[in-house]
Amino acid sequence: IIKDLLDLEKLAVLGHGNGGTVYKVYHKSNRCFYALKVLRLNENSIGIRQHATLEAEILKRIDSPYIVKCHAVFDNGICSESGKGGDISFVMEYMEGGSLHDVLRQHHRLPEEVIAGLAKRVLEGLNYLHGMHIVHRDIKPSNLLVNKKGEVKIADFGVSHVVEGGFEGINSNEGTCAYMSPERVDPERWDGENADEFAGDVWSMGVVMLECLFGHFPLIGPGQRPDWATLMCAICFGDKLEMPEKASPDFQHFVRRCLEKTWRNRATVLELLHHPFVSRNSCCFSKGLGDYVLRG
Ligand code: ADP
Ligand code: MG
Repeated sequence: IIKDLLDLEKLAVLGHGNGGTVYKVYHKSNRCFYALKVLRLNENSIGIRQHATLEAEILKRIDSPYIVKCHAVFDNGICSESGKGGDISFVMEYMEGGSLHDVLRQHHRLPEEVIAGLAKRVLEGLNYLHGMHIVHRDIKPSNLLVNKKGEVKIADFGVSHVVEGGFEGINSNEGTCAYMSPERVDPERWDGENADEFAGDVWSMGVVMLECLFGHFPLIGPGQRPDWATLMCAICFGDKLEMPEKASPDFQHFVRRCLEKTWRNRATVLELLHHPFVSRNSCCFSKGLGDYVLRG
């Protein structure tokens, strides 16, 4: 449907990130809004191009209501053979509500029923990805996007890793360390195969769910400096998870199963999909984040 980048009119900047900018764009003949992610590549950005090409390969295979849809990828690399120069552009489904990061910045915290609905969608998304042997590796609030219906979807496959699939050259230390699991922060704890890395996404999701309840990053105190050493200690050694007294026992158990430090003992996505915290609150799923989105 989208044949040429020139058909897209840039309206606003939606976000900036690793080597790229995301724009809100309008397609005149389709009369539709999209999000356009442009990665600018120069002579030195071979690594970024590898990531971008990987992201494109991953996105082309994905079709799920729980994952932000990518409609087209344009690679106008000056020399894509050698991986130098040019841009790579991704035309994506436009998520009007922005990211969960934006939602939390405005509302500070979310009620448990809403977090349960969110958890359900993220788990369905992870279940789909993991079924395709894809580990996301960067689950965090700014990579969970919300549309005007209040539906949350997983986005940003910049550091995803296809296990057993033959993609190479992905440095395991990429992603945001704050949401990384103990075994990713401290490789000495890792005794598995690539195919076991799904447990890292479950950890990150647990941190995000707790952040939604607290209204701030949960593993370190609001006044603490979020430097690498503080974060690493909190992730690997912080053993007392302070839960608000009002958190329900189901919520507390759910989060503890996600934040199990030994990855082999951590809950799987399937276990969590059947967890009472998620299944008992199912009547609220359709409500989603509808009341919380900042409509763009
Ligand atoms: P990066 O790799 O730079 O983190 P992301 O894909 O996460 O790139 O996008 C960065 C930000 O841009 C997001 O946090 C979000 O605020 C905004 N954004 C990205 N994709 C979309 C989209 N499809 N719809 C609306 N906003 C988006
Ligand atoms: Mg991102």
